[in-house]
Amino acid sequence: MRVRQIPCLGDNYCHLIIDEETGSAAIVDPANGPKIAAVLHDEKVTLTHILCTHHHWDHTGGIPHLLDEFADLQVVAGAQDAERIKGTTLAVLDGQRFAVGELEAQVIDVPCHTRGHIAFLFDGALFSGDTLFVAGCGRFFEGDAAQMHKALNLRFAVLPPETKVYCGHEYTVSNLRFAQSLEPDNPALRAKLLWATAQCEAGHSTVPSTIGEELTTNPFMRLNSPEIQAATGATRPVQVMQRLRELKNAF
Ligand SMILES: [Zn+2]
Repeated sequence: MRVRQIPCLGDNYCHLIIDEETGSAAIVDPANGPKIAAVLHDEKVTLTHILCTHHHWDHTGGIPHLLDEFADLQVVAGAQDAERIKGTTLAVLDGQRFAVGELEAQVIDVPCHTRGHIAFLFDGALFSGDTLFVAGCGRFFEGDAAQMHKALNLRFAVLPPETKVYCGHEYTVSNLRFAQSLEPDNPALRAKLLWATAQCEAGHSTVPSTIGEELTTNPFMRLNSPEIQAATGATRPVQVMQRLRELKNAF
C-alpha cells in the first residue's frame, strides 16, 4: 500500500491510497476533481473507490467531476451523512469492511464534527478526516464533547501506536501552539512544534502523524494530563474535552 498526498484548496489534504499489487486506488475526501484526475493519470492506477469521511463541501466537491471522468466508482460514506453526499453508492456502518484491490478497509464511526463522520482504517493507516488532526481535533458542529472523547480516546487511542494518521487539513502549527500554551513543559510538544514550523516554512506537509505521537502531543488525547486539567479547571474527561474545545475556539 502506498499513499500519495494531494494538497487542495489551501489547507485541505486528499489522500490517494494505491494497492500496488493490483493497481487499484481509492481517493479519500476529493476536494478538487480535475487535480485528482491529473494525479490518477500520472500514477496510471485505476480509481475504484471514493471514500468520504463526511459531507462538508471541502471534502466532497470533487465527486461530480470524478464520477463524470471515471466509470464504476464505489462512493463510500457514513450512513448518517450519505444522503448529504450526492452519488453515494455504499452507505456504511461502524465496523463494516470492504476491499480496495487487495487492501482491506474498516469503517470506524466517529460522529461529532458531523452526524455521520467516519474514519477509514487500513493496515497501519487511519484516515481521520476532520475528527483527529495533528495535535488537534475538529469542531463539534453536529455532536458533543462526549462523542469526540469517545472517538479520540476510546476508538483511536487504542490503535497500535505506530498507526499512521492521515487527516484532512494542515492545521498542525496552530494546533501545536495551542497545545504548548497548555503544557509549556512537554518536551515532545516543543520538539514537534520546532519540526512542524520548519516543515511548513519549507513548504512541506506535517501529515501523516502517528497515534503514538498524538498520545504525547495532542491535548484532546491527553485529558489526564495534570497541566491540561489545571488549564481547563476540570478533571472528568468529557468536561476537559468540552473546555479544551472552547479554549481552542477562542485561542
Ligand atoms: Zn469538515
